[in-house]
Amino acid sequence: MSDQADVMVREGQPILLDRLEDQPQDPLIALIALANNDPRPGKIDVGVGVFRDSAGNTPILKCVKAAEQILQETQKTKAYIGSQGDAEFVELVYPIVFGAGAGASGRIVGLQTPGGCGALRLGAELIARANPGARILAGEPTWPNHAPLIASSGVEMVPYAYYDKATATLHFDRMMEAFGKAEAGDLVLLHGCCHNPTGADLSLDQWREVADVVAARGLIPFVDLAYQGFGDGLEADAAGTRLVVDAAEQALVAQSCDKNFSCYRDRLGTLFVKGSTSRSAEVAFNNLLGLARTMWSMPPDHPAAVARIILSDPELRALWESEVDAMGGRIREIRGRLAAADLRLAYIGGQKGMFSMLPLTPQQVLELREEQGIYMAGSGRFNVVGLADAAVERFAALVVEKLDG
Ligand code: PMP
Repeated sequence: MSDQADVMVREGQPILLDRLEDQPQDPLIALIALANNDPRPGKIDVGVGVFRDSAGNTPILKCVKAAEQILQETQKTKAYIGSQGDAEFVELVYPIVFGAGAGASGRIVGLQTPGGCGALRLGAELIARANPGARILAGEPTWPNHAPLIASSGVEMVPYAYYDKATATLHFDRMMEAFGKAEAGDLVLLHGCCHNPTGADLSLDQWREVADVVAARGLIPFVDLAYQGFGDGLEADAAGTRLVVDAAEQALVAQSCDKNFSCYRDRLGTLFVKGSTSRSAEVAFNNLLGLARTMWSMPPDHPAAVARIILSDPELRALWESEVDAMGGRIREIRGRLAAADLRLAYIGGQKGMFSMLPLTPQQVLELREEQGIYMAGSGRFNVVGLADAAVERFAALVVEKLDG
């Protein structure tokens, strides 16, 4: 209630909407608007969280365009489809996440969600319903939206040290120490691949150690798999997720297709839940249906129908896989160029996915914005493919100059 003059009062009390506190804008969303409104021709927007090609565009994939055409010509009804969304689409995503040989044990159930955000929120609601006192260990730093999405369901978030920005190294020992002290039934939030905001992923050996501690202590992984295919490829990027889910008695995987189908605004994701038995998985599924019904009732059909057409057609599927490879390839190429530009940026070459962090202070981030028109998050997180081809070396030089003070 910032402007008292505008507040309507009845019987000494503000009326409903006048009781609300004003809210700050999401800083990353605000940054997009700031960058868009900057008239400088050489401006660089590395704050934005979407893939961009060498010309700076976020294209619609060719496989998506083709499938949309097929959908338009063949779709016969838009009648309700149910809270589980497009079950065939979910079945097609299942082996992409869990592996072609994953088999149908019946212990893993899944449903379509509005993007990865929907999956995270739905998963958190399920956890809170099952155990109102549930705790989830979350890396520090993690994607800033994890806290509002998960904690708003009432699940307590307990931070563990994950990454040191100054030295660009993982706090793996501290993370393992935290997991080693966690109690049976505690959840652990893990980024399946392409860690956001750091780009620092666990090695396969480290994933094995995490899987061991998960099994030994009875922890429940909640894996956020939002960028499969943007690191080392679709298969390799799922390896860690598969290890921890296999090792765990129970697990949740919040998956997003918004990046690897480049359909961000269409909102496509899935939530998979592994139960101790097929019966407990079935009960969890029925709870998920009920929870989804109270939040969005049903997920948007369009992107799932499109992905289903792509994944069930051998030619379109091959095209999708090649387009995902091309996006991953561009990410790796820009990483290589940044790493080669200066020794202080060398660590970026070994990191994965769209994001890495620069060891800049918030003040230096602000100066780069004002002096050079470079837009990145205050944490120093930047999107490597926010850089058009022509901007890579210039960006590296300006960042290094700023690091030198
Ligand atoms: N998890 C992480 C780590 C993310 O970065 C994002 C998107 N920025 C998501 C989940 C959610 O993606 P969406 O809801 O757009 O599918």
